[in-house]
Amino acid sequence: MINRTLAQADPEMAQILVAELKRQQETLMLIPSENYASRAVMSATGSVFTNKYAEGYPGARYYHGCRFYDELERLAIERAKKLFGAEHANVQPHTGTAANMAAYHALLQPGDRILGMSVAHGGHLTHGAPVNFSGQIYHAFFYTVDRETGRLDYDEILQIALDCRPKLIVAGASAYPRLIDFERFREIADEVGAYLVADIAHIAGLVAAGYHPDPVPYADVVTSTTHKTLRGPRGALILCKAQYAEAIDRAVFPGVQAGPLMHVIAAKAVALHEAQQFGFREYQRQIILNSQAMAEALLENDFDLVTGGTDNHLMLVDLRRKNISGREAADLLEAAGIVVNKNLIPWDPLPPRETSGIRPGSPAITTRGMKEEEARLIGKLIARVINDGRKDPRVIEEVHKQVLELCRAFPIYADLEI
Ligand SMILES: *Cc1c(COP(=O)(O)O)cnc(C)c1O
Repeated sequence: MINRTLAQADPEMAQILVAELKRQQETLMLIPSENYASRAVMSATGSVFTNKYAEGYPGARYYHGCRFYDELERLAIERAKKLFGAEHANVQPHTGTAANMAAYHALLQPGDRILGMSVAHGGHLTHGAPVNFSGQIYHAFFYTVDRETGRLDYDEILQIALDCRPKLIVAGASAYPRLIDFERFREIADEVGAYLVADIAHIAGLVAAGYHPDPVPYADVVTSTTHKTLRGPRGALILCKAQYAEAIDRAVFPGVQAGPLMHVIAAKAVALHEAQQFGFREYQRQIILNSQAMAEALLENDFDLVTGGTDNHLMLVDLRRKNISGREAADLLEAAGIVVNKNLIPWDPLPPRETSGIRPGSPAITTRGMKEEEARLIGKLIARVINDGRKDPRVIEEVHKQVLELCRAFPIYADLEI
């Protein structure tokens, strides 16, 4: 039993896996929070490190036999500190949500006031949404983007902070196409005596490479996922000033988690190593160039973008003028092999299930080696599908062919063993 391969042990699941591999190879993944992890990262994730309990921290475990787990976790911590220039790193959070939960748990008491970006304007569920623990355990207030420009209005955020007097401000977003000024957020937090937590889940790779303003000097705590632009395994980490190190570590374990996922921590270490290799900065730069090329192609094809463009890895397409919802557009695109998510635009008249926007991004196509030329072509294909795909199913077929050609010209996971 124990030595059988997946194909031998569970042909049914192996078949699903093979089909998913093919889907990843033969579609254009434009969801900006997704990426292709390296084979090395996947090897670590699927390794014997999955077999061990290692509650606690290096040198202070509650289980025996942890020698190599201490080694691997120390390596991950040192690499995270070095990559981001942080005083302290905790690499145990299972997800971005767990990282934010731990950050709040370290700094707040239930009922304390927090101020975050509203989900409807690009924030994340964990920034105080009423349906999330963050809006139920804490008393949440929200800032939005400016109605005219679609950008953060820091004077207004200050005004809201002065009115609601939060104990903690979260800066960060899931659907914001521009740079975030963390220094300005620090000033706002200082004006009202609040902690500043920067959530860089989406932009961690850009930050590490120096293509997005760095929150580490300004924020008390920085949380991030490891699987988005950082291109590691699904998971998260927390960076903080030395003064919060103990509180953060205690908040993660035993505060909100027990056994760490050591195989995932090993994979985080591998990804953090890859992020310090030659080529990673160039990759991050190309993500932005590709995103901007795709945005330009959409603008040239008569599409509206929230804020009129992008400074980062994603764009928010406002479809209101096209008389199609985000859901319909994403369905049509998926039929043509282009996978995007529907997304609310600021002050969206439609509900979250429908939405008036889509949120394409470039991290995954850039991992495949695509450059501006391909990104522009993808922008045009998106435009073609949304403009004409509803009336004429042949358009979907034609675009799908072009998508397959592009995918074959930029292969991913060729001869991967499963
Ligand atoms: C993706 C994301 C998270 C949460 O990550 P999960 O791993 O899905 O829990 C948190 N914050 C922001 C801003 C995100 O975009």
